[in-house]
Amino acid sequence: MKSKEHLDLVRLNRTVFEALDHAQLVELTCRLHTMAIEQSERLSMNSTNSSRPPSSDPPFGGGRPIGDGNALTPGTAAAPDGPPVKVSAPPAKGRKAGKQPGAKGKWRDEPLKSERSQSFWPCVCAHCGTTFEMWDRVARTATAFPVLELERMDGGIRIACVMHRYEVLQCACGLETAAVPGIGALSFQDGRKRQLQLTERGMVGPSVAAFIVALSVRHHQSRRLIREFLRTWFGVSISVGTIDRCIREVGVACEPIVEDLLEEVRAAGIIHADETPWYQRKLGLWLWVVLSATTAVFHIGSRRHEEIRDLLGDAIVGWLVTDGYHAYRDYERRQRCVAHLIRKALALAESLTSDGVRFGEWLLRELRNLIHSVAEDKGHTILNPIQARLKRACMLYREHETEKIRQLAREILNDWSAIVAFVTNPLLPPTNNEAERALRIAVIARRLSFGTRTEEGSAAYAASLSVVETCRRRGVDPWAYIADTLARARRGVSHLPVPVAA
Ligand SMILES: [Zn+2]
Repeated sequence: MKSKEHLDLVRLNRTVFEALDHAQLVELTCRLHTMAIEQSERLSMNSTNSSRPPSSDPPFGGGRPIGDGNALTPGTAAAPDGPPVKVSAPPAKGRKAGKQPGAKGKWRDEPLKSERSQSFWPCVCAHCGTTFEMWDRVARTATAFPVLELERMDGGIRIACVMHRYEVLQCACGLETAAVPGIGALSFQDGRKRQLQLTERGMVGPSVAAFIVALSVRHHQSRRLIREFLRTWFGVSISVGTIDRCIREVGVACEPIVEDLLEEVRAAGIIHADETPWYQRKLGLWLWVVLSATTAVFHIGSRRHEEIRDLLGDAIVGWLVTDGYHAYRDYERRQRCVAHLIRKALALAESLTSDGVRFGEWLLRELRNLIHSVAEDKGHTILNPIQARLKRACMLYREHETEKIRQLAREILNDWSAIVAFVTNPLLPPTNNEAERALRIAVIARRLSFGTRTEEGSAAYAASLSVVETCRRRGVDPWAYIADTLARARRGVSHLPVPVAA
C-alpha cells in the first residue's frame, strides 16, 4: 500500500492538479490528508506509545525518533503486539565468515609454561578388571598437555596453567593400562569440516570456558574482544577459534538441562511468554522465552504459531501471561499484558483525529484506574463499574469509521476475558514486564551481533541463556554450575540439576 501511494506522489504535480475537476480535487485532498495524518502519527511513535524498545528513543528525551529508519529496523519491538513484522536480514557478504581458504595460519609463538602438574590414573586394569590400588606402579606417562584453569581467590582471579598427565599403571597381572582423557557428545552440523567433539583433551579448562561464556553471553563481548581481554589482563593467548569452540561446547553441554527446565516451567502456576525477532544468518526467526518465578527457557525457532505449543504443550495447568500476539490465543487461562494496550491507547490519545483522542484518553483513564484499584485491593463495587465503563467505551467505538479506533475497540472486546483476568485472580500480574525484562539481554545481543549463524549456534546460545537466567532467578552462581556441567559433559557424564538457593 505504501509503495502505491509513493508512486502516486511521484506522478502528482501542478499540471495534474490543474486538470482535475472539483470532485476529483476533493477526493485527492482527502487522501493526501489521511496520508499526512498517518505519517505524522508514525513520526511521533516512541517507546511510551508503541511496542518500540526504549533504545530506539532519541537521546536526551523528547523530540522525534531519529528519522533514519533506525527505529524501524529489524525487530524493533521487544514484544511485537499483533502480526509479525517483516525482518530484513543484515546485508549478506559474498564470502564466508572466518578464515579464508589459503590464508596464512597462526601458531603459538612459544609453548604454554605449566606451573604445576596434575596426574590422572586408570581405575581398573583393562585386561583382567582388577581395581588399581594406590601402591600400583606408575610405568610411565602416556600423554600430557597443558590446561588453563581459572582460580578464584579472595582478592581476585588468575589463570593458572596446569600440566595434565595421564599415567600408565602396571597391574599385578603384568599388563599395562593407560588413563585417557574423557570423551563426551559429538555435535554434528552439515557442511562442517571438523565436527564439535566434547573432550577433556583441550587447552581450555571448564572454569576458563565458563569465564569466556560469561564474557560472551552475559557481558556481550565479541570473540575478538574476549581474546584481547584475556591477553591484556591475564597474559594468556587464546585464539578466536578456540574461544568460539568453548562457547559452543558450553551450549552443547547445557542443552540437555533445558528439557528439565521446560518441565519445571510447564508445571508453574504463572507462566510468562514473549517473543522477539531473531536472525540465523539470513533466516528470520523468533527468539521465544517462557518463564516462571524460578526458571527461564529461551528457544530460537520458527515464527509458526505451533512453536509455542511445542514449547509449552497443550495441557498447562497454570496461567499464561502474554502480549496480544495471536500465537497465544488458544490458551484459555491467559492474562494479556495491559501495558501494551495502554501504549496503544496513548498513541490514539496523541493522534490527530478528535475521536481518537477522546477514545484514547477514555481507555487510558479506565485501564490505569483498573490497575491501581486492583493493586489497592478495592472491592467489586469499585472494580465492576470501571470494567463496565471500559467495555462501554469499546462498544461505542467498535464501528467507528477510523480504522485504528475501530481496531483497538474490537481487539479489546474480542480478547476481553484475557484482559481483565487479573481483576478476579489477584495473583496474576497485569503486565508481561517479567518476560520483557528477561528478553532484553537477547535484544541487546541481537543488535550487537545480528544474531547467530548456524542452528548449532542458535541452540547453544538459547541453552546457555536459559541456564544463566535460571541460576540468576534462583540466586545461585551460574558460572560454577556451568563449569561443573561442562566438566561432566566432556567426560560424557550427565549433568546435575540446576541448584536452588539455600
Ligand atoms: Zn590386570
